Amino acid sequence: MFSYTANPARVVFDGGTVAALPNEVRRLGAKAVLLLGSPALKEPADRVAEALGSLLAARFDDAAEHTPVEVTERALEVVARHGVDCVLALGGGSTTGLAKALALRTDLPQIIAPTTYAGSEMTPVLGETAEGHKSTQTTPKVLPEVVVYDVDLTLGLPVEISLTSGVNALAHAVEALYSPDANPIVDRFALDAIRLLAAALPGLVADPHDVAARSDALQAAWLAGLCLGSVGMGLHHKLCHTLGGSFGLPHAQTHTVVLPYAMAYNASGAPEAMRRIAEALGAPDAATGVYDLIAGLPVPHSLAELGLAGSDVAKAAEIASAKPYPNPRELTRDGIESLLRQAYAGTRPA
Ligand code: NAD
Repeated sequence: MFSYTANPARVVFDGGTVAALPNEVRRLGAKAVLLLGSPALKEPADRVAEALGSLLAARFDDAAEHTPVEVTERALEVVARHGVDCVLALGGGSTTGLAKALALRTDLPQIIAPTTYAGSEMTPVLGETAEGHKSTQTTPKVLPEVVVYDVDLTLGLPVEISLTSGVNALAHAVEALYSPDANPIVDRFALDAIRLLAAALPGLVADPHDVAARSDALQAAWLAGLCLGSVGMGLHHKLCHTLGGSFGLPHAQTHTVVLPYAMAYNASGAPEAMRRIAEALGAPDAATGVYDLIAGLPVPHSLAELGLAGSDVAKAAEIASAKPYPNPRELTRDGIESLLRQAYAGTRPA
């Protein structure tokens, strides 16, 4: 027996779908939208603002990585000042995180137009930071009501962010396959996401404007987000949470560096999941298959490159192994430190 809870969002997918946003707002019966954007997406956000016309109540462009509570509090003041009755987020996981943080505190409906492959729009998960500490909660209150995927919005996503947030999606799919909650439905999402990403990521390096590769990557992000939102993650996500929350390392890049090492560590504890991942990748081995895929991409390849101090490796291992959590292989402090030392150097996982 297995159980699967589908999260009830309405999803719209195509190129040019931002044009449908005013109608999505009306479908929700909303009249005063807070548009969350970012300086990097000013042009499409301006177009959306114009299309919204009198439905637009205010704009806020200051979302930041790991959802700092201080930023959420400033956005809440805008919500109160303008009588906002709907939040529309145009951006990556950081912008989505802010929309979720507002929904948590106000119950406002959310429409999310994702522009990266992080997948947060499909999850009931919210990670927030306050005073240098990141905490994560899972609650249906943060689930968006509507997700509008517009492939066109992703065409200008810089190549490095495209690839690193694509590996972030790959990590959700990989860890879903060896999750204690794994089930055949989520496995299908995960394997499809891995197949799509293994082909699309090198394709985006060859041509970042390849609409078919962009469309595949965005559907993979959707599937991988469903994986993340449906089953518990393991060692890899825990390590990235620690490195991002306690050492300020960038989210998607950290996922990109750590994934092959976390997989190599877990390989002996999840042989069947690894066999299926390798098959989906078209590689003889899952961990080195992912390592080779990433080694061929123009992205950071070591924790040293991301700015982690060598002296922080032992501390990170300490934090990541302090509390037990479900993982296919037993977690030891020494084992995790050795994994992080390899990731620090960027050497082929052993
Ligand atoms: P991001 O949202 O921080 O975006 C990275 C940068 O890319 C930003 O400067 C942004 O403005 C820019 N950008 C985004 N889309 C663009 C586009 N189409 N064109 C040009 N520039 C664009 O990065 P991310 O990796 O999407 O999200 C990371 C955050 O999401 C982290 O805080 C992470 O914790 C969170 N996250 C949460 C979940 C969840 O389920 N709760 C899942 C994944 C990630």
